[in-house]
Amino acid sequence: MEDCLFCGIVGGSVPSTAVLETERSYAFRDIKPAAPVHVLVVPKEHLGSVEDVGAGQTEVLADLFAAIRAVAAKEGISESGYRVVTNVGEDAGQLVHHLHFHVLGGRSLRWPPKGSDAGG
Ligand code: AMP
Ligand code: ZN
Repeated sequence: MEDCLFCGIVGGSVPSTAVLETERSYAFRDIKPAAPVHVLVVPKEHLGSVEDVGAGQTEVLADLFAAIRAVAAKEGISESGYRVVTNVGEDAGQLVHHLHFHVLGGRSLRWPPKGSDAGG
């Protein structure tokens, strides 16, 4: 999608630090990490948020969650634990309107989310 930052990252016109790639997903490091591991996992196709996810997105969702697990394994946090966060809309503080999952780990995370633990 034109003017979408994460479409630019997926397409390569905006630089990013890749963690891994699958058929339908791309994972890269958050530019402002809130934890020792802070990776964003996005679908290669443009979806605005969870609000755009329905029955037609089962395959892309399965791929995204496989990518999330692969990121955790690659970053060595599968055993220690991690948090998967997706912000939807204004009250959640969604800044980039391309569906993305924050994968946070490498330290003990507080719950409920406060400050940087929210992942945004
Ligand atoms: P949010 O939309 O609130 O879930 O958060 C968007 C996230 O994207 C924030 O954690 C930002 O630090 C991150 N971000 C913004 N621009 C970039 C970029 N060019 N490369 C990597 N991460 C980014
Ligand atoms: Zn996009």
